[in-house]
Amino acid sequence: MKYYSTNKQAPLASLEEAVIKGLAGDKGLYMPEYIRPLDKELISRLKDKSFHEIACMVAQAFFGEDIEPEMLDAIVRDTLSFDTPVVPVRDNIYSLELFHGPTLAFKDVGGRFMARLSGYFIKKKGLKQVNVLVATSGDTGSAVANGFLGVPGIRVYVLYPKGKVSPIQECQFTTLGQNITALEVDGTFDDCQALVKSAFMDKELNRHITLTSANSINVARFLPQSFYYFNAYAQLDKAGKADELVVSVPSGNFGNITAGLFAHRMGLPIKRFVAANNRNDVFLEYLRTGVYTPRPSVATIANAMDVGDPSNFARILDLYGKNGDQHAEISQLISACRFTDEEIEATMKQVYNETGYVLDPHGACGYQALIENKLAPEETGLFLETAHPAKFKETVDKILDTDIGIPAKLKAFMQGEKQSIGMKKDFGTFKSYLLAQ
Ligand SMILES: *Cc1c(COP(=O)(O)O)cnc(C)c1O
Repeated sequence: MKYYSTNKQAPLASLEEAVIKGLAGDKGLYMPEYIRPLDKELISRLKDKSFHEIACMVAQAFFGEDIEPEMLDAIVRDTLSFDTPVVPVRDNIYSLELFHGPTLAFKDVGGRFMARLSGYFIKKKGLKQVNVLVATSGDTGSAVANGFLGVPGIRVYVLYPKGKVSPIQECQFTTLGQNITALEVDGTFDDCQALVKSAFMDKELNRHITLTSANSINVARFLPQSFYYFNAYAQLDKAGKADELVVSVPSGNFGNITAGLFAHRMGLPIKRFVAANNRNDVFLEYLRTGVYTPRPSVATIANAMDVGDPSNFARILDLYGKNGDQHAEISQLISACRFTDEEIEATMKQVYNETGYVLDPHGACGYQALIENKLAPEETGLFLETAHPAKFKETVDKILDTDIGIPAKLKAFMQGEKQSIGMKKDFGTFKSYLLAQ
């Protein structure tokens, strides 16, 4: 399968090129040339299959031409060493808990898959050292760093905004050592992302070192996220709840929801999607006005969604409007909601007091977006609980006035020693640093 760039100005790429390059030469995002639909009969039988079987089927549709089945099976098995259960919260609203992986956030799925796939290509092709650059607003860094930890031939640089990630998030990528380097950038997440993008565009830098991106722009990171949409459907179908499914996705860079849109395009019967945002609501504005206007991000308590220029928006545009009105098509399938910190807090309190379920600030946006959507009685709402609440323990404890405890996996990270290198937000400094490595 070949991959084209959303900007259509770069040559088609193989899977290996798309994974190793990350971003296309024309700054576009890679898209698979075609999306193979799964037949209806197969979808109706998903409920009898295991997560592993489901994931292999979906992986086969995307990567089957480029990787031998046994290898793909092993990569999927290694990636999904944990479950993504669907848990009832109230009435017809369910939580898809994506936080049972090593770093307790959904990004473990993409991070682990991408690390294994890159490792496979590096070994098979005997590539020299590959340097992974990843900008993080909190959770990406830990998922990618932990995914790649100890993978031979790979060095990871995690760029994160100083003082803008929680201490618990920070320790998950600054304490690892080995092939992982944490760079503490004097700026915002958008500054970190801009540094990464500039590095890929810099000809001199790219002559000297092989760079790749592990942000959700990378096809190996965002596509595997479609696995758990199929698995969630299977679980709900088993319970007789999948006929009119509305899926709400807490969104920042829009990689997660884009994976859901791919699943939908493959034939997964999702009635509609809701993009749940914090105050960074450029997507909502696009739906309202038809005009996309990126702007600087603002800091919120759902900080993994503090994104002012969501990179995967380009993919959403590319998916729709081939035969008609793009904005109308997108608005018909996806709606959007935005919440202030106060609204997020109120939701967390209310759900905790009424049901006992602990939402993290991101999941709270997803949940509340379903409430605002006023589901019809026959509809089932599913929101993606994208991170374990303990990742935001200080915030969550304070809002709920309780002590939610810390899972053992997280405690282990907190015992490590923080090692990070300060970095200015200007590209010149970053470039010199990389060239000196
Ligand atoms: C990354 C992240 C998001 C946003 O996901 P995107 O794919 O960037 O839209 C939401 N919640 C949490 C907890 C995250 O870590």
